[in-house]
Amino acid sequence: MKIEISLPDFPVEGGCQCGAVRYRLLGPPLAVYACHCKDCQRLSGAAFSMSMPIARERVGLMRGTLTAYDKAADSGRVVRMLGCGQCGIKVWNEPLSTPGMLVLKPGTLDDSSWARPVGNIWTKSRMPWVEIDGSLVNFEGQPPDRQPLYDAWDRAVAAGQTYGS
Ligand SMILES: [Zn+2]
Ligand SMILES: [Zn+2]
Repeated sequence: MKIEISLPDFPVEGGCQCGAVRYRLLGPPLAVYACHCKDCQRLSGAAFSMSMPIARERVGLMRGTLTAYDKAADSGRVVRMLGCGQCGIKVWNEPLSTPGMLVLKPGTLDDSSWARPVGNIWTKSRMPWVEIDGSLVNFEGQPPDRQPLYDAWDRAVAAGQTYGS
C-alpha cells in the first residue's frame, strides 16, 4: 500500500498528560515508525510504541522540566528517556550515539493524525495478533541504520504533496 503523508503547518505543539511540559516542533521529522521491542511495550503499556526521529534544533521545550532516565536498549546502546517530572509521561528519547537527534513520542503531539508509521522495527517481538503490512519498511530487530525509514518517509511526504495539489 502506498502511503501519502500530508505534513501540518509548522510549528506544531505537544505535551505531557498533566500539561506541565509543553514543546514545539519547528519543522518536519525525519520519519515515523513503530517499534515492537519489549522496552517499547513496557514504555507504552501497549503492543508497540511509535518513534519520530527529528533534528534536535527543530524541537523547543516551551514549558516545564524534563526528568532523564538512562536506559540500556536491547541494541546495547544507551538511550536517555526524557519525560515530565510530575506525571511521568515520556515525550522523547535522546540516543546518546546520535547527539544531534531526538526520538519524539508522536502520540504526545496535540494532533498526531499526520504521524503515520512508514515501517516497523523489532517485528520479531511483536505481539502475535499484530499484523505487519509487508509493503512497509520492516526490520526483524534493530535496523543497522535508519536511512531506509527516512527514505520511505520522504517518499510518503512527496506522494502526499502530489496528492494534495
Ligand atoms: Zn506532566
Ligand atoms: Zn522499541
